[in-house]
Amino acid sequence: MDKTVAPKAWSSQAARYGENSGDAKRPALIKGGQLSNVLILLLSSLILVQKRDDLLVKSGLSKFDVERWTLDVERFPMIRRAIYPGSFDPVTNGHLDVIDRARKLFDEVIVAVAHNDQKHPLFTLAERLELLQATIGKLENVEIAPLDGLLVDFAVAREATAVIRGLRAISDFEFEFQMALMNRKLEANVETIFLMPKEEYTYLSSRIVKEIARLGGRVAEFVPGRVAAALEAKLKR
Ligand code: ADP
Repeated sequence: MDKTVAPKAWSSQAARYGENSGDAKRPALIKGGQLSNVLILLLSSLILVQKRDDLLVKSGLSKFDVERWTLDVERFPMIRRAIYPGSFDPVTNGHLDVIDRARKLFDEVIVAVAHNDQKHPLFTLAERLELLQATIGKLENVEIAPLDGLLVDFAVAREATAVIRGLRAISDFEFEFQMALMNRKLEANVETIFLMPKEEYTYLSSRIVKEIARLGGRVAEFVPGRVAAALEAKLKR
């Protein structure tokens, strides 16, 4: 006879089922069917974890990257907001074309007007803001704001995930490329997106429009009506 003394709790349970009736009558903690379910669950979890790790290795991301990315998503809400920065001295139809494209891609577009004193603008910041307001002020998902300081700081403060820039020709590319990379270095969470305007605007710039107006040429087909009038008034001698 087995002399092993069963623990008290077990022995009282055993007593209920009959002391010497053998294992068959003991209560099973996990029944056969349940056990196989638990094993299947464990196995599938292991396979899933392995699959995730394989994917991470393939994508070149580490677990840490994924965690950081998840945190960044929390920091930048799902509303897609972009900043379109520039001097807008003055706003032209080329700018408007870019704004129109951007507002179809993003929930909100902030047109950010830089002071740019070193460029000696023709219009003051207040005038440039006002001309933009008169032109696109009524667009629902477009905001106009002055831009002071670093663009990426402004983007982070306004929870924007993208900076929009217009690309007209190869000549724009080098400067824009350098700016985009520098901005990415300063703030990795803000992407620069380049948009191309309609071909007819690719030769258009605020500088050329000002030059034409200064020389007495017609600018009506290059800028909104309010801007054409403002240029005429500004350059009247
Ligand atoms: P900045 O001084 O920053 O160049 P601009 O007002 O000249 O300011 O231009 C702002 C942005 O708009 C730039 O990305 C510029 O390339 C783009 N842009 C200007 N004119 C046009 C145009 N005709 N078509 C498309 N993009 C343009």
